Amino acid sequence: NAVLELEGISKAYNKGKISEVSVLKGADLKLSEGEIVALVAPSGAGKSTLLHIAGLLDTPDSGVIRIAGEEVAHLSDRRRTAIRRAGVGFIYQFHHLLPEFSALENIVLPQLANGTAQAAAEAHATSLLSRVGIAERAHHRPAELSGGEQQRVAFCRALANQPRLLLADEPTGNLDPETSDQVFGTLVELVRETGLSALIATHNLDLAARMDRVMHLEHGVLV
Ligand code: ADP
Ligand code: ADP
Repeated sequence: NAVLELEGISKAYNKGKISEVSVLKGADLKLSEGEIVALVAPSGAGKSTLLHIAGLLDTPDSGVIRIAGEEVAHLSDRRRTAIRRAGVGFIYQFHHLLPEFSALENIVLPQLANGTAQAAAEAHATSLLSRVGIAERAHHRPAELSGGEQQRVAFCRALANQPRLLLADEPTGNLDPETSDQVFGTLVELVRETGLSALIATHNLDLAARMDRVMHLEHGVLV
């Protein structure tokens, strides 16, 4: 049962110009229910491009994307937006939390936008914060949190609407090695507990080795 399938995904930038760069050249990937896959590639190889395509933020030049068996090209814009907002959770290298809101509010807001009632959204946010070990930081704003704590809040926000698929782009790349190691451990535990599928880009091979499978993005294909 594949949560995400990519087949023959190609993508070039600046098409037809002298600066044309062909980033993906027929990338294939099958992510099963509950599977955590590491995406390893050197900088500039196209990790972000691949994650954006997988998360329906960008479209490939050719190839097929299936989410839970449904071919994305055949979906209405409305349905595609719904999948992107609630079906997929994103985590970036930088937390991108809203600076004027507390940790709790940052996790509550996407739930309200998705139609969850305030009380239920707060209860869920509180439970997520305690699962990543920072319940006592609920009312702090991002600037009052350490880098590792900020990323933990970003993980909670990504999971706020209970997505089936998590896409993470160097989720601990901004942290010092020791903090990165701990925070990464928290992320993998959280993903395993939740049972969701995840594609996590990292260039840290030790971190990649903790996942179920490692895919390398090389010369535009996944091996
Ligand atoms: P990674 O995440 O692996 O560092 P990216 O997917 O960000 O790689 O980029 C892959 C290649 O595509 C790089 O050479 C980058 O310069 C180029 N690229 C990315 N986005 C664009 C864009 N919007 N326009 C032109 N070139 C781009
Ligand atoms: P909306 O229709 O609500 O404006 P968006 O399409 O802007 O939704 O965003 C949906 C999700 O994708 C949000 O979590 C947003 O942060 C993220 N997102 C949107 N555009 C990009 C992008 N270019 N790169 C990375 N993340 C993005």
